[in-house]
Order: sequence, then C-alpha cells, then structure tokens
Amino acid sequence: MGLIAKETIEQVLAATDIVDLIGSYIPLKRAGSSYKANCPFHHEKSPSFNVSPAKQFFHCFGCGKSGNAIGFVMEHEGLVFMDALKKLAAKAGVHLEEEPDDPQARAAKRSRGRLLDLHREASAFFHELLKTEPNCQHARAYLKSRGFGKEMAERWEIGWMPENPQTFLDWARSRNFTGKDLVASGLTSLKDENRPAAGLYVRFRDRLMFPIRNEVGDVIAFSGRQLREDPKSGKYINSPETDIFKKSNVLFALDRAKKSILKEKTVILCEGQIDAISCHEQGVENAIAPLGTAFTSQHARILKRYAQTAVLCFDADLAGMKACERAFRELAPEGLSVKVVELPAGDDPDTFLKAHGVEGFRKEIAEARDFFDFKIEAGRKSGRLETAEGRTEMTRDCTELLAVMGDYAARDQQINVVASMLGVGSSTLRQNIGLASRKARAMAERTSTRENPNQPEEEFIEAIPLDRTVGYLCNLAITSANAQHYLNEQFENLHMAKPWVEGINLLEKILAAAPDPESNAAVNAFVSSLRKSEQLALHQVMGGVELKSEEGLQAAENAVGMLSSIVIQKRDAAVKAALKEPGISTERMISLLEEAKVIAKALENSPRSLYDDELPQETKKPEKKPWEKWKK
Ligand code: ZN
Repeated sequence: MGLIAKETIEQVLAATDIVDLIGSYIPLKRAGSSYKANCPFHHEKSPSFNVSPAKQFFHCFGCGKSGNAIGFVMEHEGLVFMDALKKLAAKAGVHLEEEPDDPQARAAKRSRGRLLDLHREASAFFHELLKTEPNCQHARAYLKSRGFGKEMAERWEIGWMPENPQTFLDWARSRNFTGKDLVASGLTSLKDENRPAAGLYVRFRDRLMFPIRNEVGDVIAFSGRQLREDPKSGKYINSPETDIFKKSNVLFALDRAKKSILKEKTVILCEGQIDAISCHEQGVENAIAPLGTAFTSQHARILKRYAQTAVLCFDADLAGMKACERAFRELAPEGLSVKVVELPAGDDPDTFLKAHGVEGFRKEIAEARDFFDFKIEAGRKSGRLETAEGRTEMTRDCTELLAVMGDYAARDQQINVVASMLGVGSSTLRQNIGLASRKARAMAERTSTRENPNQPEEEFIEAIPLDRTVGYLCNLAITSANAQHYLNEQFENLHMAKPWVEGINLLEKILAAAPDPESNAAVNAFVSSLRKSEQLALHQVMGGVELKSEEGLQAAENAVGMLSSIVIQKRDAAVKAALKEPGISTERMISLLEEAKVIAKALENSPRSLYDDELPQETKKPEKKPWEKWKK
C-alpha cells in the first residue's frame, strides 16, 4: 500500500468536524467551550469524556482514551488507521490519493494541482475584474437587480469574464499558464483540434462567473451566467468535465452547507445556484443546488453522508414537479426521506425569500409535505384523480416510486398513507410494490464498500514517559507559533537535557515536523503520524492551556528556564551520589568535583524551587494544569 500524503490527511481532518463526527455516534452536551458525554469506551455514570472543538480532539478523563477524529473512528469502529482515514475521507468527500510512486501517477497529480491553481487564481482574477473593471457596470447592475450587494459577491467570490477573450488569455500568459493548462481546465478549447496553432477559444464571454467548489472548498469549475440575451447560448453554462470536475460528484455550495446539513440532518435542495446563494445569504445555510438539472444517484449518495431528510425546493411548475420526481428516484433508494416545499406559483426560493423574508421561508420548509402527499395532492388539483384511468395511472406511478424507497420502515408507513389517499387496498399495493421493488433492486445493484470485518485485537498501549515540563513545552510547541520558533532555537539546551528528563525526543519530533499551530488539521495530522504511545502522552498534555499567541513565547522561555534548572538539579544529585560511591578513582573524583563546581555556579543562577510553585504563570491555576488532573 502506498503512502498517503500528509496534506491529504490534513485535508481530511480539516474537512471533518470532530464535534459533528462524535455527535453522530453519541449524544454530546455542550459544557463551556467543549462538549461532554458518557464515555463510549468505558462504562460510566457521569460524563468524563470531553470533546474540544477548538483543538479538534477528544479525551476521556476516566479511561484515558484520547485522539483526533481519525483516532475516534479507529477506536469506536475498531478500524486500523488507513480504514478509518478512508471512511472519514469518503464522508468529507476528500479523494484519498496514495502517494504515487510511478512517474505517470506523479505527473497526473501534478497536473491536478496545476488545474486547481489555475482555477483558484482565475477565480480571484474574475472577481477582481467584477469589482474594478469599468466595462462591467452591467454585470454589477445585474447582481444588484437580484438584490445582491458587494459583500455577497465577495463572500461567493463572484466574478466577471469580459467579452474580449484576449483579456483572459493575456492574464493566463502573465501567470505562466500554458495553452495546454487552459484547455485542460475547460476554460478554453482549441479552435481547431487538428491545428493547435489556430489558437484558443474562450468558453465564457461576458458572463457572471460563479466559482464551483468541491466539498473542501477548492474552486474546480465555473458556472457562467449570461448577461446579454443571446438565444444561441444558454442562460447558464458550466465548465465541461475535467480531471478535477465531475458534475455528478459536485453539488453547489455543499462546502459551505455541510456543517449545517449535519446539524439539521436536513438538506434543502434548490434548483439553481442563485437560489442556494439566496438561502445562505439569509441564514438558511443547509441549502445546496445541483449543477444544471441533472441530479444523480452519486449526488444522493453524497447527501446521504450528511442528511436524513431532503427538502426539495423547486419551481412550482410542471418542470419543477418532474424535477422533484427525478430527485426522489435518486434520493429515496439511499434511504433519505424526501419532502417537497410548495412555493406559490411563479416563485423560486430567491424571489420568495425577498418577498417573505427568512421567517416566511423557514415556515414553508417546516411545512414541507411528504413526497407522496405532494404528488397525490398535485394529481388531485389537476383533476387527474377524478377519472378511473387517472387513478389507476396514479396508483401505478406511486407503486413504482414506493418500490424504490430504501428505508423499508418508512416505506411501510407511506404505503398506508398512499393507499388511503388513493382509496386502494394497502395489501394489493404492497403486493405490487414487492414485485416492482424486486425489479428495481435488480437494476440498482450497486457496489457498496463494506467495512473491514477483520477488526484488530485491542492491544494495550501505554503512553511514553513524559516529564511534565517537557510535556508543557510539547503543548506550547503545537499551540503557539512563537513558542515553536523559540524552541527551535533552543536545540542545544534541549539536547543537553535529553539524558536527564523524559520526553525530549518527542519534543524534538514536534520541532522537526513544525506543524502549523494555527491549523488544527496540521497539528492533528502530525499527531496521528506519531506512534500510539507518543500520541497518548501528547494527548495528556494537549488542551487545557489556553494561551494567546503572544504569550506563547514568554511561557516557552520560562519553561525552558525551568527545564535547565531541573537538569542542573538532577546533575547535582547525580554528581553527589557519584562522589559517595565507594572505591572511586582519584581521576574520576577530580572530574566530578570539577563538574560539581560548574553545577554549583549554575544553581546560583537558576530559579530556586522547581516543580509546582514556579511553573510559568499561566499554568498555576489548577484548570490550566492538565497534567495534574490527568496524571494517574
Ligand atoms: Zn473513557
């Protein structure tokens, strides 16, 4: 098995919120700045299991288990590191790419990186144009006419592609992007496939550019909205599929919506991107939109990771109704419950929000009808149920739709509802559904990834011994950039302390890897690269100490001073003990006395009392001295 790039592990951790994750396994209760629960790993009556959203790790004061999101999944599901990582990566939509060891794979990875760079930079460029270019008054005016101001454009990094393609091509050249890069990105194509010298055709012209992002927020494509009527071209056009953009894997705004979807267990599915943006701007943050009309089973599978219920919020016309049914056919097999919001005819979420405000909209969402209720009601309104043929047709439709539902308990309930609404016998309906669902299942045979059944035996791992002061320094090194820099300059002092205090190796590892203290993901990725016994030791000293970044340096200086004192004291004790050894040679005696002199001098200059009383100021209060509490 190849290696997983450090960045990928960081990406997975960055895309995972440990509170949401653990909250999806066990009920968490907020307690100040962290969350508490009864520990899932040992039996207890009062909660000693803590989850820190700031540090993105968990720790149980009862049984000592601790770790990051990956560690939790490993522990809770009995998975090995790689399987837990895979699981979280799938949940977060991060593609796990093993470090390629052949040149071809490396090249592919590089070109992916290049495409991401191009999209990121182009997005910023288009956005800058929209903000500053005098020629795009009309683009800004259009946004304004839709009720969107400058802040909204900034939040979504909306941009403008000029009419003149040369502007973009010149910019790309100035940024050293080649024609090949541009064609690979889909932003341009070759005017003549057989004759590259004929030049490049720029796909978007005079359009508002909406960046399309993947689940972790990288720009991977654009959606361009027409600004001038042009019947030859669509109102919206999207980038074509590329190495980094697969339409069926991408849902607009999911990167922003996923936390809220997880929290609400509900996703609001809008028809267009503007609708989704409108919802977010008004604080309805669990809204997303597919790109174009196609909603695929892959989309449904992605949403299933986050939501239990999908609320469809499509236009109230025939096309909208058909879109609802198509979405139901994809969502229901995944076991998602599907509801439909009926906005007044002619309204979409964008116009509705503007007319009725967010409260009105939330009310509509809360009153969304179950899919079958909506469908049958629509049939009733259209007069379809007034004829025998119409009722038969509706029954057949509903039978087929009920048959695709993946949640059998919910289906059973729906069967009764549908039977009574249509006035048909529920047992007949059930029979027909049985037939139809066997047919549907056979067609929808899907490959499903199974959990690793070979759960590893739980092994007993003990934390490495870690001197308290060294532990404190370890914590500083991963929480404060200032402290980390300072400690890196102290390598000599630290090296000298190595024979005398425990855990310097771990501290040196931290300093060598220098994970960015500002990034929980970087720190977590680093921690998970350590041996389990080191992780355990580290988790026991992590957290608790909340320092402002500028305090880190002072704290580190104090603690290094403390460490030197400890070392001196230990050396002092060792020399004194050695001098008392019987049969000691004169030579050794002299060298020991020499050393004793040096030590005595150093002792004069070092703080008097060592451990508890003179630990750095910040650590005096008991709640800020995690090792006291955690030491067994
Ligand atoms: Zn526990």
